[in-house]
Amino acid sequence: MNKNYRKGQSVIKTLLENGYQAYFVGGFVRDRLLNKEANDIDITTDALPNEVMKLFSKTKATGIKYGTVTVFIGASQFEVTTFRADMDYLDHRRPEKVVYSKSIEEDLKRRDFTINAFAMSLDENIVDLFNGRQDLDNHLIRAIGIPDIRFKEDALRILRAFRFVSKLGFDIEENTFISIKKNIELLSKIAIERILDEFKKIMEYSYKEKAIKLMFEANIFKAFPELEKGLALLNKKTNYMMNYLEFFSLCYYLENIDIPLNWRFSNKEKAIINKIIELVTVTEHDRYNEMIIYRLGKDIPLMANNVSRLINPNNDQEELIVNIYKSLPIYRTCDLKFKGQDILDLTTLNNAEVIGDIIDDITYQVITNKLNNNYDEIRSYVMSLLENKYDKE
Ligand code: ATP
Ligand code: MG
Repeated sequence: MNKNYRKGQSVIKTLLENGYQAYFVGGFVRDRLLNKEANDIDITTDALPNEVMKLFSKTKATGIKYGTVTVFIGASQFEVTTFRADMDYLDHRRPEKVVYSKSIEEDLKRRDFTINAFAMSLDENIVDLFNGRQDLDNHLIRAIGIPDIRFKEDALRILRAFRFVSKLGFDIEENTFISIKKNIELLSKIAIERILDEFKKIMEYSYKEKAIKLMFEANIFKAFPELEKGLALLNKKTNYMMNYLEFFSLCYYLENIDIPLNWRFSNKEKAIINKIIELVTVTEHDRYNEMIIYRLGKDIPLMANNVSRLINPNNDQEELIVNIYKSLPIYRTCDLKFKGQDILDLTTLNNAEVIGDIIDDITYQVITNKLNNNYDEIRSYVMSLLENKYDKE
Protein backbone atom coordinates (compact mmCIF):
# COMPACT_ATOMS: atom_id res chain seq x y z
CA MET A 1 0.00 0.00 0.00
CA ASN A 2 2.90 2.35 0.76
CA LYS A 3 4.05 2.19 -2.82
CA ASN A 4 0.49 2.78 -3.97
CA TYR A 5 0.15 5.63 -1.55
CA ARG A 6 3.25 7.29 -2.96
CA LYS A 7 1.92 6.88 -6.49
CA GLY A 8 -1.41 8.33 -5.31
CA GLN A 9 0.50 11.31 -3.93
CA SER A 10 2.13 11.78 -7.31
CA VAL A 11 -1.32 11.90 -8.96
CA ILE A 12 -2.44 14.58 -6.48
CA LYS A 13 0.80 16.48 -7.00
CA THR A 14 0.30 16.59 -10.76
CA LEU A 15 -3.23 17.92 -10.29
CA LEU A 16 -2.06 20.56 -7.81
CA GLU A 17 0.82 21.65 -10.06
CA ASN A 18 -1.68 22.27 -12.81
CA GLY A 19 -3.71 24.58 -10.64
CA TYR A 20 -6.43 22.17 -9.52
CA GLN A 21 -7.53 21.13 -6.05
CA ALA A 22 -7.10 17.43 -5.23
CA TYR A 23 -7.51 15.18 -2.17
CA PHE A 24 -7.55 11.56 -1.14
CA VAL A 25 -11.14 10.82 -0.19
CA GLY A 26 -13.70 8.34 1.14
CA GLY A 27 -12.93 4.80 2.22
CA PHE A 28 -9.19 5.14 1.71
CA VAL A 29 -8.90 7.97 4.24
CA ARG A 30 -11.27 6.21 6.66
CA ASP A 31 -9.29 2.99 6.51
CA ARG A 32 -6.00 4.87 6.87
CA LEU A 33 -7.26 6.58 10.04
CA LEU A 34 -8.21 3.13 11.32
CA ASN A 35 -4.76 1.80 10.40
CA LYS A 36 -6.40 -0.65 8.06
CA GLU A 37 -5.24 -1.61 4.61
CA ALA A 38 -7.61 -0.11 2.03
CA ASN A 39 -8.69 -1.87 -1.15
CA ASP A 40 -8.40 1.07 -3.44
CA ILE A 41 -7.43 4.73 -3.47
CA ASP A 42 -10.02 7.32 -4.48
CA ILE A 43 -9.02 10.84 -5.34
CA THR A 44 -11.33 13.82 -5.70
CA THR A 45 -10.53 16.97 -7.65
CA ASP A 46 -12.12 20.01 -9.22
CA ALA A 47 -10.47 19.17 -12.55
CA LEU A 48 -13.09 18.03 -15.08
CA PRO A 49 -12.80 14.46 -16.42
CA ASN A 50 -11.42 15.58 -19.79
CA GLU A 51 -8.86 17.76 -17.99
CA VAL A 52 -7.79 14.80 -15.85
CA MET A 53 -7.40 12.71 -18.98
CA LYS A 54 -5.13 15.31 -20.54
CA LEU A 55 -2.77 15.35 -17.54
CA PHE A 56 -1.94 11.63 -17.38
CA SER A 57 -0.58 9.40 -20.09
CA LYS A 58 -2.68 6.34 -19.28
CA THR A 59 -6.33 6.87 -18.33
CA LYS A 60 -9.70 5.32 -18.91
CA ALA A 61 -13.12 6.93 -18.64
CA THR A 62 -14.51 4.21 -16.36
CA GLY A 63 -17.42 6.08 -14.85
CA ILE A 64 -17.66 9.13 -17.01
CA LYS A 65 -21.39 9.52 -16.27
CA TYR A 66 -20.44 10.16 -12.66
CA GLY A 67 -17.26 12.05 -13.39
CA THR A 68 -14.82 9.21 -12.72
CA VAL A 69 -11.61 8.65 -14.67
CA THR A 70 -9.23 5.82 -13.80
CA VAL A 71 -5.60 6.92 -13.86
CA PHE A 72 -2.97 4.20 -14.29
CA ILE A 73 0.49 4.67 -12.82
CA GLY A 74 2.58 1.60 -13.53
CA ALA A 75 0.61 -1.38 -12.25
CA SER A 76 -1.49 0.77 -9.89
CA GLN A 77 -4.73 2.51 -10.62
CA PHE A 78 -6.58 5.40 -9.05
CA GLU A 79 -10.17 6.51 -9.40
CA VAL A 80 -10.13 10.24 -9.89
CA THR A 81 -13.59 11.79 -9.58
CA THR A 82 -14.53 15.40 -10.18
CA PHE A 83 -16.13 17.23 -7.20
CA ARG A 84 -19.84 16.71 -7.46
CA ALA A 85 -23.06 18.02 -6.09
CA ASP A 86 -25.62 15.32 -6.72
CA MET A 87 -28.99 16.21 -8.22
CA ASP A 88 -32.23 14.68 -9.35
CA TYR A 89 -32.64 11.52 -7.36
CA LEU A 90 -35.21 9.47 -9.23
CA ASP A 91 -37.13 6.61 -7.62
CA HIS A 92 -34.80 6.47 -4.64
CA ARG A 93 -31.93 5.52 -6.91
CA ARG A 94 -28.63 7.04 -7.69
CA PRO A 95 -28.92 10.41 -9.50
CA GLU A 96 -29.35 10.36 -13.23
CA LYS A 97 -27.44 13.56 -13.65
CA VAL A 98 -24.46 14.87 -11.76
CA VAL A 99 -23.46 18.45 -11.41
CA TYR A 100 -19.77 19.19 -11.08
CA SER A 101 -18.67 21.52 -8.36
CA LYS A 102 -15.67 23.64 -7.50
CA SER A 103 -16.05 23.04 -3.79
CA ILE A 104 -14.71 20.14 -1.76
CA GLU A 105 -17.35 20.92 0.90
CA GLU A 106 -20.15 20.31 -1.56
CA ASP A 107 -18.54 17.07 -2.68
CA LEU A 108 -18.19 15.78 0.88
CA LYS A 109 -21.77 16.77 1.76
CA ARG A 110 -23.25 14.39 -0.82
CA ARG A 111 -21.45 11.38 0.66
CA ASP A 112 -23.33 8.80 2.72
CA PHE A 113 -21.80 8.52 6.20
CA THR A 114 -19.63 10.79 8.31
CA ILE A 115 -16.84 8.21 8.40
CA ASN A 116 -16.89 8.06 4.57
CA ALA A 117 -16.62 11.79 4.11
CA PHE A 118 -13.03 12.54 5.03
CA ALA A 119 -10.73 14.21 2.57
CA MET A 120 -6.95 14.24 3.04
CA SER A 121 -4.60 16.70 1.41
CA LEU A 122 -1.14 15.95 0.03
CA ASP A 123 0.42 17.10 3.31
CA GLU A 124 -1.91 14.73 5.21
CA ASN A 125 -4.26 17.31 6.66
CA ILE A 126 -7.68 15.79 7.25
CA VAL A 127 -10.78 17.66 6.15
CA ASP A 128 -13.56 16.50 8.48
CA LEU A 129 -16.73 18.55 8.08
CA PHE A 130 -19.14 16.27 9.91
CA ASN A 131 -17.24 15.17 13.01
CA GLY A 132 -16.38 11.89 11.36
CA ARG A 133 -13.31 11.61 13.60
CA GLN A 134 -15.53 11.41 16.66
CA ASP A 135 -17.80 8.82 15.04
CA LEU A 136 -14.75 6.82 14.03
CA ASP A 137 -13.52 6.85 17.64
CA ASN A 138 -16.97 5.88 18.91
CA HIS A 139 -17.38 3.20 16.24
CA LEU A 140 -20.54 4.76 14.83
CA ILE A 141 -22.04 4.81 11.36
CA ARG A 142 -23.98 8.05 11.10
CA ALA A 143 -25.75 9.44 8.05
CA ILE A 144 -24.64 12.88 6.92
CA GLY A 145 -27.48 15.42 7.21
CA ILE A 146 -31.05 14.31 7.84
CA PRO A 147 -31.13 10.53 7.59
CA ASP A 148 -34.68 10.32 6.20
CA ILE A 149 -33.78 12.63 3.34
CA ARG A 150 -30.54 10.80 2.59
CA PHE A 151 -32.11 7.31 2.56
CA LYS A 152 -35.05 8.52 0.48
CA GLU A 153 -32.58 10.03 -2.01
CA ASP A 154 -30.73 6.75 -2.41
CA ALA A 155 -32.05 3.74 -0.55
CA LEU A 156 -28.96 1.69 -1.34
CA ARG A 157 -27.30 3.65 1.45
CA ILE A 158 -29.36 1.53 3.86
CA LEU A 159 -27.62 -1.59 2.67
CA ARG A 160 -24.30 0.24 2.61
CA ALA A 161 -24.76 0.96 6.33
CA PHE A 162 -24.98 -2.79 6.93
CA ARG A 163 -21.93 -3.29 4.70
CA PHE A 164 -19.89 -1.03 6.96
CA VAL A 165 -21.24 -2.77 10.07
CA SER A 166 -20.01 -6.03 8.61
CA LYS A 167 -16.67 -4.59 7.54
CA LEU A 168 -15.84 -2.51 10.62
CA GLY A 169 -17.97 -4.02 13.41
CA PHE A 170 -19.34 -0.54 14.19
CA ASP A 171 -22.83 0.28 15.50
CA ILE A 172 -25.35 2.30 13.56
CA GLU A 173 -26.02 5.62 15.30
CA GLU A 174 -29.49 5.70 16.89
CA ASN A 175 -31.26 8.22 14.66
CA THR A 176 -29.68 6.75 11.57
CA PHE A 177 -30.98 3.32 12.58
CA ILE A 178 -34.48 4.61 13.34
CA SER A 179 -34.55 6.12 9.87
CA ILE A 180 -33.25 2.89 8.29
CA LYS A 181 -36.09 0.98 9.93
CA LYS A 182 -38.62 3.53 8.79
CA ASN A 183 -37.40 3.51 5.20
CA ILE A 184 -36.45 -0.15 4.87
CA GLU A 185 -39.11 -0.92 2.28
CA LEU A 186 -37.50 1.53 -0.16
CA LEU A 187 -34.85 -1.13 -0.73
CA SER A 188 -37.30 -2.98 -2.95
CA LYS A 189 -36.98 -0.11 -5.46
CA ILE A 190 -33.25 -0.60 -6.00
CA ALA A 191 -31.86 -2.59 -8.92
CA ILE A 192 -31.28 -6.14 -7.76
CA GLU A 193 -27.74 -6.22 -9.17
CA ARG A 194 -26.71 -3.50 -6.76
CA ILE A 195 -28.52 -5.20 -3.88
CA LEU A 196 -26.78 -8.47 -4.66
CA ASP A 197 -23.38 -6.76 -4.81
CA GLU A 198 -23.92 -5.32 -1.34
CA PHE A 199 -25.15 -8.64 0.07
CA LYS A 200 -22.03 -10.32 -1.29
CA LYS A 201 -19.88 -7.78 0.50
CA ILE A 202 -21.87 -8.04 3.73
CA MET A 203 -21.41 -11.82 3.75
CA GLU A 204 -17.70 -11.50 3.00
CA TYR A 205 -16.62 -9.37 5.96
CA SER A 206 -15.76 -10.39 9.53
CA TYR A 207 -18.67 -8.81 11.38
CA LYS A 208 -21.45 -10.29 9.25
CA GLU A 209 -23.07 -11.77 12.33
CA LYS A 210 -23.64 -8.30 13.70
CA ALA A 211 -24.81 -6.96 10.32
CA ILE A 212 -27.30 -9.81 9.98
CA LYS A 213 -28.73 -9.19 13.44
CA LEU A 214 -29.19 -5.50 12.62
CA MET A 215 -30.75 -6.27 9.24
CA PHE A 216 -33.21 -8.55 10.99
CA GLU A 217 -33.93 -5.93 13.63
CA ALA A 218 -34.55 -3.40 10.87
CA ASN A 219 -37.13 -5.77 9.31
CA ILE A 220 -35.24 -5.95 6.04
CA PHE A 221 -37.49 -8.84 5.03
CA LYS A 222 -40.25 -6.28 4.41
CA ALA A 223 -38.30 -5.51 1.25
CA PHE A 224 -37.10 -9.11 0.67
CA PRO A 225 -39.71 -11.51 2.10
CA GLU A 226 -37.81 -14.53 0.75
CA LEU A 227 -34.99 -13.85 3.22
CA GLU A 228 -37.15 -13.74 6.35
CA LYS A 229 -36.79 -17.32 7.60
CA GLY A 230 -33.06 -17.42 6.89
CA LEU A 231 -32.42 -14.16 8.70
CA ALA A 232 -34.64 -15.19 11.61
CA LEU A 233 -32.60 -18.37 12.01
CA LEU A 234 -29.25 -16.60 11.77
CA ASN A 235 -30.43 -13.92 14.18
CA LYS A 236 -30.35 -16.58 16.90
CA LYS A 237 -26.95 -18.00 16.02
CA THR A 238 -23.41 -17.09 16.91
CA ASN A 239 -20.00 -18.14 15.61
CA TYR A 240 -21.07 -19.52 12.30
CA MET A 241 -19.24 -19.49 9.01
CA MET A 242 -21.14 -18.58 5.93
CA ASN A 243 -20.61 -17.19 2.45
CA TYR A 244 -23.25 -15.51 0.31
CA LEU A 245 -24.05 -18.64 -1.68
CA GLU A 246 -24.73 -20.50 1.54
CA PHE A 247 -26.79 -17.59 2.82
CA PHE A 248 -29.13 -17.53 -0.17
CA SER A 249 -29.32 -21.35 -0.25
CA LEU A 250 -30.33 -21.34 3.41
CA CYS A 251 -33.04 -18.73 2.80
CA TYR A 252 -34.53 -20.44 -0.25
CA TYR A 253 -34.36 -23.86 1.38
CA LEU A 254 -36.20 -22.66 4.48
CA GLU A 255 -38.84 -20.92 2.36
CA ASN A 256 -39.06 -24.05 0.22
CA ILE A 257 -38.79 -22.05 -3.01
CA ASP A 258 -36.71 -22.10 -6.17
CA ILE A 259 -34.26 -19.26 -6.73
CA PRO A 260 -36.59 -16.31 -7.37
CA LEU A 261 -36.17 -15.07 -10.93
CA ASN A 262 -35.57 -11.47 -9.92
CA TRP A 263 -32.34 -12.32 -8.06
CA ARG A 264 -29.86 -12.13 -10.92
CA PHE A 265 -27.31 -14.76 -10.07
CA SER A 266 -24.88 -15.94 -12.73
CA ASN A 267 -25.53 -19.40 -14.16
CA LYS A 268 -22.61 -20.72 -12.17
CA GLU A 269 -23.97 -19.25 -8.93
CA LYS A 270 -27.42 -20.63 -9.69
CA ALA A 271 -25.99 -24.09 -10.28
CA ILE A 272 -24.13 -24.01 -6.95
CA ILE A 273 -27.15 -22.73 -4.99
CA ASN A 274 -29.39 -25.40 -6.53
CA LYS A 275 -26.82 -28.08 -5.74
CA ILE A 276 -26.50 -26.90 -2.15
CA ILE A 277 -30.29 -26.94 -1.71
CA GLU A 278 -30.45 -30.44 -3.21
CA LEU A 279 -27.69 -31.73 -0.91
CA VAL A 280 -29.25 -30.14 2.18
CA THR A 281 -32.50 -31.90 1.30
CA VAL A 282 -30.89 -35.28 0.57
CA THR A 283 -28.67 -35.26 3.64
CA GLU A 284 -31.43 -34.26 6.01
CA HIS A 285 -31.76 -37.99 6.69
CA ASP A 286 -28.98 -39.60 4.66
CA ARG A 287 -25.23 -39.54 5.06
CA TYR A 288 -22.78 -38.25 2.46
CA ASN A 289 -21.30 -41.15 0.53
CA GLU A 290 -18.41 -41.83 -1.83
CA MET A 291 -20.43 -41.31 -5.00
CA ILE A 292 -21.68 -37.86 -3.97
CA ILE A 293 -18.20 -36.73 -3.05
CA TYR A 294 -16.66 -38.26 -6.18
CA ARG A 295 -19.23 -36.52 -8.39
CA LEU A 296 -19.12 -33.12 -6.69
CA GLY A 297 -15.74 -32.89 -4.98
CA LYS A 298 -15.71 -31.60 -1.42
CA ASP A 299 -16.32 -27.84 -1.75
CA ILE A 300 -20.04 -27.83 -2.54
CA PRO A 301 -20.81 -30.60 0.00
CA LEU A 302 -18.90 -28.60 2.64
CA MET A 303 -20.97 -25.52 1.78
CA ALA A 304 -24.16 -27.56 1.97
CA ASN A 305 -23.00 -28.96 5.30
CA ASN A 306 -22.52 -25.43 6.60
CA VAL A 307 -26.18 -24.82 5.82
CA SER A 308 -27.35 -28.17 7.22
CA ARG A 309 -25.63 -27.73 10.57
CA LEU A 310 -27.13 -24.27 10.98
CA ILE A 311 -30.57 -25.79 10.55
CA ASN A 312 -29.79 -28.80 12.70
CA PRO A 313 -26.60 -28.65 14.77
CA ASN A 314 -26.76 -32.43 15.22
CA ASN A 315 -26.42 -32.90 11.50
CA ASP A 316 -22.77 -32.00 11.04
CA GLN A 317 -21.03 -34.23 8.51
CA GLU A 318 -17.92 -32.15 7.91
CA GLU A 319 -15.51 -34.80 9.13
CA LEU A 320 -17.20 -37.46 7.06
CA ILE A 321 -17.01 -35.32 3.91
CA VAL A 322 -13.34 -34.52 4.44
CA ASN A 323 -12.47 -38.15 5.23
CA ILE A 324 -14.33 -39.54 2.26
CA TYR A 325 -12.65 -37.02 -0.01
CA LYS A 326 -9.20 -37.82 1.36
CA SER A 327 -9.61 -41.55 0.92
CA LEU A 328 -11.20 -41.58 -2.51
CA PRO A 329 -9.15 -44.01 -4.62
CA ILE A 330 -9.67 -41.90 -7.75
CA TYR A 331 -10.77 -38.30 -8.38
CA ARG A 332 -11.42 -38.48 -12.12
CA THR A 333 -12.17 -41.12 -14.72
CA CYS A 334 -8.68 -40.68 -16.13
CA ASP A 335 -7.25 -41.85 -12.78
CA LEU A 336 -8.62 -45.34 -13.54
CA LYS A 337 -5.84 -47.81 -14.35
CA PHE A 338 -8.06 -49.39 -16.99
CA LYS A 339 -8.91 -47.18 -19.94
CA GLY A 340 -11.58 -47.13 -22.62
CA GLN A 341 -9.06 -48.53 -25.10
CA ASP A 342 -8.36 -51.46 -22.75
CA ILE A 343 -12.07 -52.29 -22.85
CA LEU A 344 -12.15 -52.08 -26.65
CA ASP A 345 -9.21 -54.52 -26.78
CA LEU A 346 -11.32 -57.12 -24.99
CA THR A 347 -14.41 -57.01 -27.17
CA THR A 348 -15.71 -56.56 -30.67
CA LEU A 349 -18.40 -54.27 -29.22
CA ASN A 350 -17.70 -50.77 -30.37
CA ASN A 351 -20.57 -48.84 -28.98
CA ALA A 352 -19.73 -45.60 -27.19
CA GLU A 353 -22.75 -45.86 -24.92
CA VAL A 354 -21.87 -49.38 -23.78
CA ILE A 355 -18.22 -48.42 -23.21
CA GLY A 356 -19.43 -45.41 -21.20
CA ASP A 357 -21.70 -47.64 -19.10
CA ILE A 358 -18.83 -50.02 -18.42
CA ILE A 359 -16.57 -47.17 -17.34
CA ASP A 360 -19.31 -45.86 -15.03
CA ASP A 361 -19.70 -49.32 -13.60
CA ILE A 362 -15.94 -49.74 -12.93
CA THR A 363 -15.82 -46.25 -11.48
CA TYR A 364 -18.62 -47.12 -9.08
CA GLN A 365 -16.90 -50.38 -8.06
CA VAL A 366 -13.59 -48.61 -7.47
CA ILE A 367 -15.07 -45.62 -5.63
CA THR A 368 -17.03 -47.85 -3.27
CA ASN A 369 -13.95 -50.03 -2.69
CA LYS A 370 -15.53 -53.13 -4.18
CA LEU A 371 -12.69 -53.25 -6.67
CA ASN A 372 -9.09 -52.05 -6.41
CA ASN A 373 -7.85 -49.56 -8.96
CA ASN A 374 -5.55 -52.17 -10.42
CA TYR A 375 -5.25 -53.09 -14.10
CA ASP A 376 -5.53 -56.85 -13.67
CA GLU A 377 -8.40 -56.73 -11.20
CA ILE A 378 -10.40 -54.37 -13.32
CA ARG A 379 -9.60 -56.41 -16.43
CA SER A 380 -11.08 -59.59 -14.97
CA TYR A 381 -14.08 -57.64 -13.72
CA VAL A 382 -14.68 -56.21 -17.20
CA MET A 383 -14.24 -59.64 -18.79
CA SER A 384 -16.91 -61.14 -16.60
CA LEU A 385 -19.13 -58.13 -17.21
CA LEU A 386 -18.77 -58.55 -20.96
CA GLU A 387 -19.41 -62.23 -20.78
CA ASN A 388 -22.44 -62.02 -18.53
CA LYS A 389 -24.03 -58.82 -19.61
CA TYR A 390 -22.98 -57.35 -22.91
CA ASP A 391 -21.51 -59.88 -25.34
CA LYS A 392 -24.54 -62.08 -24.81
CA GLU A 393 -27.00 -59.39 -25.83
P1 ATP B 1 -14.96 -0.05 0.77
O1 ATP B 1 -13.72 -0.07 1.55
O2 ATP B 1 -15.95 -1.10 1.18
O3 ATP B 1 -14.75 0.03 -0.72
P2 ATP B 1 -15.68 2.72 0.49
O4 ATP B 1 -15.99 3.72 1.56
O5 ATP B 1 -14.47 2.93 -0.34
O6 ATP B 1 -15.67 1.32 1.19
P3 ATP B 1 -17.17 2.70 -1.98
O7 ATP B 1 -18.45 1.96 -2.27
O8 ATP B 1 -15.93 2.26 -2.66
O9 ATP B 1 -16.98 2.64 -0.41
O10 ATP B 1 -17.46 4.23 -2.25
C1 ATP B 1 -16.44 5.23 -2.15
C2 ATP B 1 -16.98 6.47 -1.48
O11 ATP B 1 -18.01 7.06 -2.28
C3 ATP B 1 -17.62 6.25 -0.12
O12 ATP B 1 -16.65 6.28 0.90
C4 ATP B 1 -18.61 7.39 -0.02
O13 ATP B 1 -17.97 8.57 0.38
C5 ATP B 1 -19.05 7.59 -1.46
N1 ATP B 1 -20.30 6.85 -1.81
C6 ATP B 1 -20.40 5.65 -2.41
N2 ATP B 1 -21.66 5.31 -2.60
C7 ATP B 1 -22.43 6.31 -2.12
C8 ATP B 1 -23.83 6.53 -2.03
N3 ATP B 1 -24.71 5.64 -2.48
N4 ATP B 1 -24.23 7.70 -1.48
C9 ATP B 1 -23.34 8.60 -1.04
N5 ATP B 1 -22.02 8.44 -1.07
C10 ATP B 1 -21.55 7.32 -1.62
MG1 MG C 1 -13.94 1.67 -2.06
